[in-house]
Amino acid sequence: MNYQSTRDRSAKVSAARAIVQGISHEGGLFVPETLPVLTPEELEGLVGLSYNEKAKAVLSRFLTDFTPDEIAHCVDGAYNTRSFDTHDIAEISKVGERSYFLELWHGPTCAFKDMALQLLPYLMKVSMDKEAPGTEVVVLVATSGDTGKAALAGFADVPGTRMLVFYPENGVSGMQKLQMVTQEGENVSVCAIKGNFDDAQSGVKAIFTDPSIEAELRKNGQMFSSANSINWGRLVPQIVYYVAAYTALVEQEEIAFGDTVNVCVPTGNFGNILAAYYAKRMGVPIGRLICASNRNNVLTDFIRTGVYDRNRDFYTTTSPSMDILISSNLERLLFHLSGEDDGLIRRWFASLAETGRYAVSPDVQEKLQAEFWGGFCDDQAAAEAIHGQFDRYGYLCDPHTAVAVKVFEDYVRETGDDTRTIIASTASPYKFCGSVLPAVTREPVPEDPFAQMELLHRVSGMAPPASLAGLKGKPVRFTGSIEKGQMADKVKEMLR
Ligand SMILES: *Cc1c(COP(=O)(O)O)cnc(C)c1O
Repeated sequence: MNYQSTRDRSAKVSAARAIVQGISHEGGLFVPETLPVLTPEELEGLVGLSYNEKAKAVLSRFLTDFTPDEIAHCVDGAYNTRSFDTHDIAEISKVGERSYFLELWHGPTCAFKDMALQLLPYLMKVSMDKEAPGTEVVVLVATSGDTGKAALAGFADVPGTRMLVFYPENGVSGMQKLQMVTQEGENVSVCAIKGNFDDAQSGVKAIFTDPSIEAELRKNGQMFSSANSINWGRLVPQIVYYVAAYTALVEQEEIAFGDTVNVCVPTGNFGNILAAYYAKRMGVPIGRLICASNRNNVLTDFIRTGVYDRNRDFYTTTSPSMDILISSNLERLLFHLSGEDDGLIRRWFASLAETGRYAVSPDVQEKLQAEFWGGFCDDQAAAEAIHGQFDRYGYLCDPHTAVAVKVFEDYVRETGDDTRTIIASTASPYKFCGSVLPAVTREPVPEDPFAQMELLHRVSGMAPPASLAGLKGKPVRFTGSIEKGQMADKVKEMLR
């Protein structure tokens, strides 16, 4: 099975090529040429298997140029109890009658990005050996907070790779920043920019397609790749956990095989919710996909009106990983919903680049609304949701997951839909003590992040993850910040 670009269907590559390259030359994103389907019998056959066996079954459908041994090597290297603090890899917590938190943050950096970024270095290594043996891969990352650390943790000291992470100087939580600037590893580097996540992401995309940098790379025997969710190798591991969660609910006798479940996802770059859409297209009985945004509600408006318009104020919120106005992965969805019309996608995304907006055709809007429901909430409503979950159920959730909780409540109130729902829980509350703690206690909190951690432990009884507690006293390796216009220079400096 080949992959094609959303902006040029004739640009076809293997899965390995899509993974090493990250993005197509004309700026489009790679998507599978045909979406693989699990028959009901095949899906039911996964019930009772381990996470890793489910992962192998799903990945083998998408990575058809990988051998079963290669897939097993990647999966077992990534998902194990050395890196994850639970045998289940992704845990499910039932809270209330009909909602299930899919906890995707039991990996080394305590956010769902680990689910993909623990696996990606393995996929990248196998892909490089197939497509460009002997070449050093230079991975550039733009992060709104969680991707950066997860990518660093995945790629640190991986032979044949180098990594540079850009993050918005004032756009990440104190703990997120500390996680990144203390990262060890000879081959990794971290750089703050004076700008927001969209600036970082646009800067990285421009560097990828800069011919002068490309020439320098070739001279050095290097090539660029991406660890952002524009890379197919980031998305495909995320499809796995929706398949795994559905079959796990059957195992736990919460649903009967064949029952429909809804999925609610706190959304930024549209990667996580798109993975749920792909799981649905593969045959998992998923009903509505509920897209939850924070105050940067460009996606809510888009789902409701069919007009994507990023010409609006950008807000810094307590859910920084969702502070995004350009949701890259929407391009993949629109490619599928438009009947794979690469010409239309080129037009819409040229319009986005030039004017900051595009309007989709009525038939695409109709299909979008048939699959997705969009809602949003502000920081105060998210804090209330954290308080409410803890008060009622003793369950602690982080501010991103809290946005999903609030939007899910709104969805149920508006539609009366009582379908059982998987809520993607995307980060450990301990990554965001500064906003979780006051939401729970409604009292002022100490300044020091480790004092916050201790207090949250005392109040909640939930133990802090060892990887976060262990940051205390670690030396800071990366300081200072650059103007967003200097990103290309920073990259050239690293290449030398
Ligand atoms: C990245 C992230 C999100 C948003 O996920 P997308 O795939 O970008 O939509 C939500 N919550 C947390 C904690 C994240 O790190």
